Amino acid sequence: MNLIILGPPGSGKGTQSDFLVEQYHFVHLSTGDLLRDEIVAKSEIGLSAKSFIDQGKYVPDDVMNGIIDNKITNLKDNFILDGYPRTIGQVKFLETVLQKINHKIDVVLYLEIKEQTIVDRLLARLVCPVCKTTYNRISMPPKVDTLCDKDQTPLIQRTDDTDSNKIVTRLNEYNVSTQPLVDYFRSKGLLKVIDANQDNTTIRQQLKQIIEAIHG
Ligand code: AMP
Repeated sequence: MNLIILGPPGSGKGTQSDFLVEQYHFVHLSTGDLLRDEIVAKSEIGLSAKSFIDQGKYVPDDVMNGIIDNKITNLKDNFILDGYPRTIGQVKFLETVLQKINHKIDVVLYLEIKEQTIVDRLLARLVCPVCKTTYNRISMPPKVDTLCDKDQTPLIQRTDDTDSNKIVTRLNEYNVSTQPLVDYFRSKGLLKVIDANQDNTTIRQQLKQIIEAIHG
């Protein structure tokens, strides 16, 4: 089965994807992580994406669709799309690609969260630049100092998490371009809403119930 994890920045898409990968061995495709890798590699895509990301803006659809086309075509079943699609144009492109390779999306997990919680979470977020595991200084700190629990790499703050103006821009982008996807996927009968304001254990129980109900 294949799924999309949808929600505003800071709703926990990366953290819950990590959990689903551990539990069910999905391949995790995070377009944010892919773009950050391109930036580190100083590739052409990375150089053009950096200015958008640093401003909190969306990278243009044609760039994003190109990245996904490249990745998804070689995938077998069982993937999680995290951070893609983010616009109706990307949804339409994804549908075409999936049709071409005879795959489908089985469920869209929508992490719904209050806007005021988002800003606090993003400002406290830390990530491992190597394995991409996400932590939070307040709600999910690493075991030792600011080192990754898995590979002991010093954790960093993402450049787009460091100032509240950028966060407001990202939320505006989300509200204008991505929120309409919620109704779209609901109309297709694919949407499952999870209250992401709840504690992590409850969220994970609900995710498991949803996946196991579909997967059997
Ligand atoms: P994320 O790690 O998912 O929060 O993504 C970080 C940033 O990468 C976003 O704020 C956008 O600038 C860019 N980005 C990631 N995925 C997409 C996408 N599907 N469409 C447009 N921009 C994206």
